Amino acid sequence: MIKVFKNAEELSSSISGFKSKVKTIGFVPTMGALHDGHLKLVKKAKKENDITIVSIFVNPTQFNDKKDLDKYPRNLEDDLLKLMPTHVNYVYAPEVSDIYPNGMEESAAIDLGGLDEIMEGAFRPGHFKGVAQVVKRLLDIVQPDHLYMGQKDFQQFTIIAHIIRKLSIDTNLVVCPIVREKNGLAMSSRNVRLSPETRAAAGMIYKTLKYVKKQVLTKPVEVVKSQALRKLKTGPFDPEYLEIVDAHTLQSVVDFSQHEYVVACTVVRAEGVRLLDNIILKKA
Ligand code: AMP
Repeated sequence: MIKVFKNAEELSSSISGFKSKVKTIGFVPTMGALHDGHLKLVKKAKKENDITIVSIFVNPTQFNDKKDLDKYPRNLEDDLLKLMPTHVNYVYAPEVSDIYPNGMEESAAIDLGGLDEIMEGAFRPGHFKGVAQVVKRLLDIVQPDHLYMGQKDFQQFTIIAHIIRKLSIDTNLVVCPIVREKNGLAMSSRNVRLSPETRAAAGMIYKTLKYVKKQVLTKPVEVVKSQALRKLKTGPFDPEYLEIVDAHTLQSVVDFSQHEYVVACTVVRAEGVRLLDNIILKKA
């Protein structure tokens, strides 16, 4: 049986009750509308920990676009059904007032070291401040030994890793590979908003990322980027950005050979939906 908590205090006191008895607590924060990408994280957490906690919370402070927030799919009952086979122990599904009892204004913003100003940060001002705010609050409540996040949100987990280091939070971040639909489209809760035709055609994003991975071995980064952007601009698809960045600093790479860990990140818009994806080009 999954135990569902709506209240941070109740969850915290339940956790302190078993903290001395269990070796590790795994935690998977999500915004719900769960798909196989989320479930992979939950299964891994469940396998690697004595207790696993999943949070389901659509965090308003990370949405710079109110329409996107309003349209975000929410269905707790469905999510609980999907979680059932994972045998996850606890779900924390709070209301906004439980996460932000003193209002949504941040008391002390966390320094994100400029990692929040590029790519997603440039297109979604304030987004990562909201992400940092909610993840910090959730980590304070749950105090997990292991935190599970997806590679799908590359910039997000890089920023969370930065916060964990900076604030010396005693949690180990585990990053899991991107789970994709059959055609290669990265799974996302927002994919349901695409028409079937566009969803089928969106496999070309991953194809283009794989093309980038091959081309960057022999061509200058700038040339590969503009070729890829041309490929991504087709039919209903409109790329917002495609950046080839150092995976540690998220700064643009000019000379591919000079970096040991490089990732290509992109967002392509289609039918009002932002499709986020990335591919690791090199990891020493
Ligand atoms: P979200 O509910 O979109 O906030 O995502 C919750 C967690 O699931 C984040 O750590 C995401 O990176 C991860 N995630 C979302 N989609 C995928 C995917 N297709 N593959 C792997 N992880 C994912």
